[in-house]
Amino acid sequence: MTEGRSLYDLTYEELEDVIKGWGHPAYRARQIWEWVYVKLAGDFASMTNLPKELRRQLAETFSLAPLHLLTEAVSTDKRTRKGLFRLRGNETVETVLMFYDKRRTLCISSQVGCGMGCPFCATGLSGFRRNLSTGEIVGQVLYYARWLADPLAGGEEAAPVPRPTRVTNVVFMGMGEPMANYDRGWKAIRILTDKRGFNLGARRITVSTVGLVPGILRMAEEDLQVKLAVSLHAAEDELRNWLVPINRRYPLAELMDAVRTYIRRTGRRVTFEYALMRDINDRPEHARALIRRLKGVLAHVNLIPLNPVEGSPFQPSTRRTTVRFARMLEDAGIPVTVRLRRGLDINAGCGQLRRHVLQGGQEGEKREGEITGVRG
Ligand code: SF4
Repeated sequence: MTEGRSLYDLTYEELEDVIKGWGHPAYRARQIWEWVYVKLAGDFASMTNLPKELRRQLAETFSLAPLHLLTEAVSTDKRTRKGLFRLRGNETVETVLMFYDKRRTLCISSQVGCGMGCPFCATGLSGFRRNLSTGEIVGQVLYYARWLADPLAGGEEAAPVPRPTRVTNVVFMGMGEPMANYDRGWKAIRILTDKRGFNLGARRITVSTVGLVPGILRMAEEDLQVKLAVSLHAAEDELRNWLVPINRRYPLAELMDAVRTYIRRTGRRVTFEYALMRDINDRPEHARALIRRLKGVLAHVNLIPLNPVEGSPFQPSTRRTTVRFARMLEDAGIPVTVRLRRGLDINAGCGQLRRHVLQGGQEGEKREGEITGVRG
């Protein structure tokens, strides 16, 4: 990991300004942008169509490695990889790559730790450290984009699909609350969707929030078709105040008003994440409250059996309860998906691998088992 400013912090226009400021023609920015975001170059020396002087200036000013892989957990079926990265200042952050039939989805982090304090979440329990920079957010995507593009990274058999392949979807569902780091996160989205470079479709990006109303209202005004997910976990204020403490600041009525505004302005469906916790939010009365809350809203519900944190009183619902809950929503006409819980044995939920290492688990070890990248 180099300590120079990350090139991934810059938009195309900002890079062009730097290049012109150094006295080079503007088209050099285009060439650099292609090396970085199309050819996925990992160093400046390989940018052979640039003059030597420019390569030297770039290398002296910028880094292409804002994060360094510390340890990686790989599921037994190889369909999920979770990387723990070291950042500037010795902080650590997690990124999860998940293989689905056609998608290669990356679950990225937006903060080191999280200040939202949800009591069932490993990241919440570890507290807030700092916001990630734009470069650190983009860097997570580029790390795995390079890995997917390299047929031999991790060994020929490391991926369950033939490589080279690419990242198809990005979800802001890793560590942190993306709406609490809105500007840097959104700048990262602009860089990743830039058609001259990485060219990820905006509709393939999902920003997940625990319910920061100002962020939802800002997102409603953005010109990119990025999807919104809301981590709900409870449909009544009393319970949600406990499970998702930010609910005290933005109670459900206000949150749902913001969601309705978002839907009205964008025409897009909103996903509601609901982590099912045994005997806490998984009873029929909880399902009925959720149905009342979402009636008439252009919504989709993702039910996620909780990934339990070591020593936590919050436990996942049984399969039977999960199915009953899902059926009740379905019968009420609310589209619902039950997400499989994976990865109990390698610290699966967001923040759990980091917590494991912070608590003295071995760095550099490869951990096998099954994992999921969905928060909560
Ligand atoms: S569930 Fe999400 S918002 Fe809540 S503490 Fe964990 S990372 Fe933060």
